[in-house]
Amino acid sequence: MKEVNVIGGGLAGSECALYLANKGVKVNLFDIKTKQFTPAHHSDNFAEIVCSNSFKSDDITTASGVFKRELTQLGSILIKTAYKFSVPAGQALAVDREAFSSEITRLIKQNKNINVICDEVSTFDKNAITVVATGPLTTKPMCDALKQKLGQDFLYFYDAAAPIVSAESIDMNKAFCASRYGKGEADYINCAMDKAEYTNFYNQLISAKTAQLHDFDKNHIFESCMPVEILAKRGFDALRFGPLKPVGITNLHKSDKPFAVVQLRKENINATMYNLVGFQTNLTFGEQKRVFSLIPGLEQAEFLRYGVMHTNNFVNFPVCLDKYSRLKKDSNIFIAGQLSGVEGYVESIASGLYCAINVYNMLNNKPLISFSADTIIGGLYNYLTNANPNNFQPINANFGILNPISDKNKQTRNQKYYARSIAEIERVLKQINA
Ligand SMILES: Cc1cc2nc3c(=O)[nH]c(=O)nc-3n(C[C@H](O)[C@H](O)[C@H](O)COP(=O)(O)OP(=O)(O)OC[C@H]3O[C@@H](n4cnc5c(N)ncnc54)[C@H](O)[C@@H]3O)c2cc1C
Repeated sequence: MKEVNVIGGGLAGSECALYLANKGVKVNLFDIKTKQFTPAHHSDNFAEIVCSNSFKSDDITTASGVFKRELTQLGSILIKTAYKFSVPAGQALAVDREAFSSEITRLIKQNKNINVICDEVSTFDKNAITVVATGPLTTKPMCDALKQKLGQDFLYFYDAAAPIVSAESIDMNKAFCASRYGKGEADYINCAMDKAEYTNFYNQLISAKTAQLHDFDKNHIFESCMPVEILAKRGFDALRFGPLKPVGITNLHKSDKPFAVVQLRKENINATMYNLVGFQTNLTFGEQKRVFSLIPGLEQAEFLRYGVMHTNNFVNFPVCLDKYSRLKKDSNIFIAGQLSGVEGYVESIASGLYCAINVYNMLNNKPLISFSADTIIGGLYNYLTNANPNNFQPINANFGILNPISDKNKQTRNQKYYARSIAEIERVLKQINA
C-alpha cells in the first residue's frame, strides 16, 4: 500500500495519522516542532491544545454535544482520549491538556505504521497523497507553497488565548466556588464585583496598553474569540452581558447581588491551574497583571501563562477545495483542520477524521464518503462547500448548519436533531466499513 504524508501533528493531523495507521496505512507524520515552534505552541507533544482547555458542551441537546457523539460513533481517537483525560467543568467536556497531548504522543510514537519526522515542510511530494494540517499558524514557507498552488491569497483573522493563574494564588476569602443557578457541581471559581469595583476595572481595561499587532485588521477578528478589551470597548455593560454575566450567581461572601462576575475554569485534573473564562486578550503581559489583579480575589494572582493573540491562516474553502476537502487543482492534496476553514478544536479533529476516511478510500479505490446535513459533520462540510466565497469565514458546530426540523419546542427539536444524526452516522458507517 502507498504511503501518505500528513503535514502537521496538531489536532487534525494527529487524528488523521492515527486513523490511517490503525487501518494499516504507512504514514509519514511531519511537524516542525522541537526544531521550531509557532507563536502559540510551546510543548514537544503532538495534539497540543493552545488556548482554552474546553471542548465545549457535552449536552446532547447542544450542537457541540451532538458533534462529539458523532465523532465518538465514528471512532475518533482524539475524542475518546479527551473523555479519558477530562476534568470537571459542569456540562462541558474540558481536558487536562498535558495528559491529553502526552497520551496522543505516546499513541503516535508507539504506532509502527507512523514515521515521525521533525521538520518544516514547504513542498509537496507529487507521488504521494498529502494531508496538510499545519493549522492556523502555518509557517510562511508552507503558506507560500499553498499560495502558489491555489493561485490566490489566504484569508486571515486574529484569535486570542486567555491567561491562566495558579489555584493557590486565588484569594478564596473573596472568591467562591459555585455554579450558575446552583445547577450541577460547583466547578467554577467566581470572583464577584460590586458596581464600584467593576467601574474601576472597566476603566483600567479599556485604557490598558495592548501588544503590537502586525497587519492588524479589526474586521477579521472572529466574534467568538473577541479579546476582552475589545469587547469592553463596545460599551460599559458589554462584559456584564457577556463573560462577566452576574445572573444566577450568589456571592457566598456578601449579601449584595453581584454587579459582575468573573469565572475561572479548571485547567487540569488536579485543579492547580485555572483559566479566566472569556479573557482572551492582547494586553501586554505587564498590563494583564496590573488590570486583572484588580479583580476581587485575584489581587495576588500568580499568572502561569499570559493571554496572547495570533494570526490565523485559512483557505477560502468554497473557492479552493472540493467537498472532500481536497484542492480542486490537485486532488492528491487534502487540507485538514483549522487551515481548511473549520473553527475550533473538535471541528479540527473532525476534519482530520473526515480527510483520513477519504484518503483511505482513495488508496483503496473505494467511493469517497460524505455526510448529509442531517449530521453536524455533514452540515459543516455542506456549509464550507457552499458558503459565499466573497465573505468566507470559518465555521464551528451549530444547529443552524443542519437540515432544519420543524418543531417549535427547542428542547424536543434538539433531541430530534440528535436522534437523526446518530441514525445517519450509523448509515454512513455501514458504507465506510463495507
Ligand atoms: C491562539 C489560538 C487560540 C485558540 N483557541 C481556541 C479555543 O480556545 N478553542 C477552540 O476550540 N479553538 C481554538 N483555536 C482554534 C483551533 O481550534 C486550534 O488552533 C486547533 O489547534 C487547530 O487544530 P489544527 O490541527 O488545525 O492545527 P494545530 O493544532 O495548530 O496543529 C498544526 C501543527 O502543524 C505544525 N506546523 C505548522 N507549520 C508547519 C510546517 N510548515 N511544517 C510542519 N509542521 C508545521 C505545528 O507545529 C502544529 O503542531 C485557537 C487557535 C489559536 C491560534
